[in-house]
Amino acid sequence: MSNDERTFVMAKPDAVQRGLVGTIISRLEERGLKLAGAKFMQIDEELANQHYAEHQDKPFFDELVAFITSGPVMAMVWEGADATRQVRQMMGATDPKEAQPGTIRGDFGLDLGQNIIHGSDHEDPGANEREIDLFFDEEELVDYERSDEPWVYEDA
Ligand code: GDP
Ligand code: MG
Repeated sequence: MSNDERTFVMAKPDAVQRGLVGTIISRLEERGLKLAGAKFMQIDEELANQHYAEHQDKPFFDELVAFITSGPVMAMVWEGADATRQVRQMMGATDPKEAQPGTIRGDFGLDLGQNIIHGSDHEDPGANEREIDLFFDEEELVDYERSDEPWVYEDA
């Protein structure tokens, strides 16, 4: 397995307003995942429509777009072995009321519509690369070694 899989992660507007951006970064960082890019930004309606295109026919779509454009977000790219699936596990179930304690949503959320964090769907092949391309230009992503990599990966 390669150690350089990249996935798209976003601290949603509720995470920014509640001061949870640092906590989210810490959890991913401490796990051994490597930050490859980050952008503190305001999502406009056009980008929201593109990002959530798969949900455009759902009854909650307008609410979802209104929420994700309601304030700034921290958009990020994280890298590591099995990164997409591992981040999803750390996020917990979509509805924070169903998310296990110990997961980000399970520890910090109580509402399906305000569930703190987005991560690319590991069951949708290519979703990670598609979302990274939507939010980041190639030159905004950084390739580097973290000094603890040999202590995280046996084969590093
Ligand atoms: P995720 O991949 O776990 O984020 O979940 P989905 O891709 O299924 O849905 C995208 C986002 O839409 C979720 O993170 C929720 O914030 C939101 N969402 C999903 N279902 C509902 C719903 O029934 N009502 C509302 N208000 N929001 C929803
Ligand atoms: Mg999803």
